[in-house]
Amino acid sequence: MSLTTPKTHALFERAKQVMPYGVTSNFRYWGDETPVITKGEGAYVWDADGNKFIDYRLAFGPIILGHANKQVNDRIIQSISNGTLFAHTHPLEIEVAERIIRMCPGVEKVRFANSGTEATMHALRIARAHTGREKFIKFEGDYHGFHDYVLFSTATTPLGALGSRRSPISAPNTSGIPAAIRDLCINVVYNDSEGLERIVKDKWQDLAAIIVEPIAGNIGSIMPEKGFLELIRKLCDEHGIVMIMDEVKTGFRIAKGGATEYFGVKGDLMTYAKSIANGYPLAAIGGSEKVMGTIEPGRVAQGGTYCGNGVGTAAAAATLEILETTDALEQINQRGARLMQGIGEVLTEAGIEHSLHGVPGMFSFFLDPQEKIRDYRGVLGANLERGERLAAAMRERGVEYEPDAREPWFFSAAHSDQDVDETLNALNDAVKTIK
Ligand code: PMP
Repeated sequence: MSLTTPKTHALFERAKQVMPYGVTSNFRYWGDETPVITKGEGAYVWDADGNKFIDYRLAFGPIILGHANKQVNDRIIQSISNGTLFAHTHPLEIEVAERIIRMCPGVEKVRFANSGTEATMHALRIARAHTGREKFIKFEGDYHGFHDYVLFSTATTPLGALGSRRSPISAPNTSGIPAAIRDLCINVVYNDSEGLERIVKDKWQDLAAIIVEPIAGNIGSIMPEKGFLELIRKLCDEHGIVMIMDEVKTGFRIAKGGATEYFGVKGDLMTYAKSIANGYPLAAIGGSEKVMGTIEPGRVAQGGTYCGNGVGTAAAAATLEILETTDALEQINQRGARLMQGIGEVLTEAGIEHSLHGVPGMFSFFLDPQEKIRDYRGVLGANLERGERLAAAMRERGVEYEPDAREPWFFSAAHSDQDVDETLNALNDAVKTIK
């Protein structure tokens, strides 16, 4: 069984002539088989050859309502006919900020940006300006975007580069990061409460922030263990450190109010992108009046030409209205839970050792784990290559999810019970290929 893809191939060949590796984001590069997608509608995408896939990648998460959602698109069309961008505030910014504040516990003030990368970059600056300190803690395997400050020990760092559990090394993920900023980022093992406490006690005087993915959504949606987020909150309170909840993946997805609602722990700052605007570029930094109040024209900078643009805010106005006022997230939870459970059953029946993580809206499974997976080091002990073979077999059967199990399956309000059934049938068949 294999897909016929001559047109896709031809387009990818053209793409390689004009873009390094034929893509505009390294994460989209799949070697010679790099897809070119021409259409998305609801829960499905089609490649250039017309091959249709049930889509569980959802553009790395944003498409919470399904592709080409009509209500979202109509709102944008209505908005852009009156212009897209002004050198002034627009009512849609106010409307969306009001809604975010209503939906998200802990958010009293909001500023907009355009991507998750920008949001975490701004949040770190605000935290530094607020505390007068420069260093910050992040957790191994957590990913906070492409800017230099945070690209250390993320989900592509090899095990050998991480150092010991007791004394993790912050390993740069790419060439091109200035050596001068390396010491500013301190990595701690995710879910390692004892290690976190020890490092904070030792270094708090230099710490502006602790930034955390409340569900580790870049290492297969590993859940925070009981008390872990609460400990971060407590340590930040005790030592005047700004807690940044990076809700770029969890926000408006795992609950209306994201992780702060789901776990009942508020950051001082929250960063949002992805599901906020169903695939249109918008991000937000939200937080307490006290910390957001650090922003001050001429003194503490936040902004950008496209911040709060009319396309992103119109998309967010429609998306958040649907998420706040309909049962879209409950549907995602119900149907996604059935999918998650079904996957576990199929793998168990096939006699394949696995470890399933996350919540119905974003989850992942690792094959042949060597230990109980609770952090990035555990992820690297699983058989990621076998997982990739399963994903390839699923794609041939019309189901697309990320071949690398570190990136979760995302579930949208457009995925139907029938999609779930078809996915499980495909999996029943595909598991035979990896025995
Ligand atoms: N934070 C988290 C938790 C993310 O998952 C991502 C992207 N996957 C980012 C930040 C960066 O977002 P963007 O790709 O929009 O810059």
